[in-house]
Amino acid sequence: MPYQPTLAYAQEQDRKDPLRGYREQFYFPQHQGRDTLYFTGNSLGLQPKSAKAALLHELEHWKNHAVEGHFRGEMPWMEYHKFLLPQTAHVVGAKEEEVIVMNTLTANLHLMMVSFYRPDAGRYKIIMEAGAFPSDQYAVESQVRWHGYTPEQAIVEVSPRAGEECLRTEDIIAIIEQHGKETALVLFGGVNYFTGQFFNLKAITEAAHKAGAYAGFDLAHAAGNVPLKLHDWEVDFAVWCSYKYLNSGPGGPSGAFVHERHGNKPELPRFAGWWGHDERERFLMRKGFHPMKGAAGWQLSNAQILSFAVHKASLDIFHQATMAALRTKSEKLTGYLEYLLQEIIQRKGGFHIITPNTPQNRGCQLSIYTHRDGRHLYNYLESHGVISDWREDNLHGGEVQPGQAGVIRVAPAPLYNSFQDVLEFATLLKDYEKNKSS
Ligand SMILES: *Cc1c(COP(=O)(O)O)cnc(C)c1O
Repeated sequence: MPYQPTLAYAQEQDRKDPLRGYREQFYFPQHQGRDTLYFTGNSLGLQPKSAKAALLHELEHWKNHAVEGHFRGEMPWMEYHKFLLPQTAHVVGAKEEEVIVMNTLTANLHLMMVSFYRPDAGRYKIIMEAGAFPSDQYAVESQVRWHGYTPEQAIVEVSPRAGEECLRTEDIIAIIEQHGKETALVLFGGVNYFTGQFFNLKAITEAAHKAGAYAGFDLAHAAGNVPLKLHDWEVDFAVWCSYKYLNSGPGGPSGAFVHERHGNKPELPRFAGWWGHDERERFLMRKGFHPMKGAAGWQLSNAQILSFAVHKASLDIFHQATMAALRTKSEKLTGYLEYLLQEIIQRKGGFHIITPNTPQNRGCQLSIYTHRDGRHLYNYLESHGVISDWREDNLHGGEVQPGQAGVIRVAPAPLYNSFQDVLEFATLLKDYEKNKSS
């Protein structure tokens, strides 16, 4: 059945949604006595109701057993990182030994670059997307400087064509081919945080390998959002955070992926710590680092139990719902949002969508580019119980006035957002545009 712009239709879709029960498993911030329209799971996911019990469980364990908690109970802390592996592998399409949860995202990006950005006189360039998330830009800039290069020498950015906002895969590949012989690493986001574009990770990885370079990805906006097959795509490494789509709370732990091709090479250079050391002899306290097999061999420290406990509670929900079912709903839900927005655009046209209009090239987020008074529209939505976010235009340099042109990012998360949420959001937007022009 084609989409319809009515409440009856939206409610019917919600009734038929096989994942509808998951909404009840999350807390929504309240606005005037009802749930907000929460579309910011791309920034901080909602709290799963199971998080508190998971956290309290570990606090009790600590209270009752103190240091013995490392060895006692169903999930002894000594082994705790292992209890997150099946769910983590499911989310990113990996083998269990290819993933690990540790540290935070930017820290892991640096650790991965220590192993996979090893420039020499011939190969020293890093190819990345223009407009990458600032933390990634700073990480890359500091890495190339640390190896003695300037960003101008070593960083190659792929930009959209004039008049376009997203990148074309053929342009990414052309740049990789052009700089191939000098390229050490191709480092991309999975889903760009600003435009919502989901890059073709498989094609980028193939092109990087053909050029003799490694391919790594920052999946902050991809993990828990889009289908990933890191193992099959032969991605070399990836990192992500858990507090966005993965709903694991502010500052939650990061995940890392290292393909098994590399995970079983103990000679691969890395920065080491005791938790990455062969666990059979970890407590012999001897000299000489022998890494664990797989991604576990990149661990530095013992597990951050309290934040891992919350992360596990959330990952268990993803494992149960499955990424495949979430994606099926996500395509419909975001498609519905797009349909409703297009209706308004055709009539009024105060904004347009910069996210690709094909589901395979995006996740759940749509980025609405406002041509004028965008900040005002954002404030209007906020005062009516919408939680979205506002980003000043960063596509057109200094050419635009602050508060005018920019992007409102709206991310209906298939775990907890409904078709009715999407309809109510679009109705507010429509009313705003109508009042403005009357
Ligand atoms: C959110 C985000 C980060 C944040 O990094 P932290 O180290 O977790 O603070 C980094 N990169 C991208 C692409 C992001 O979207």
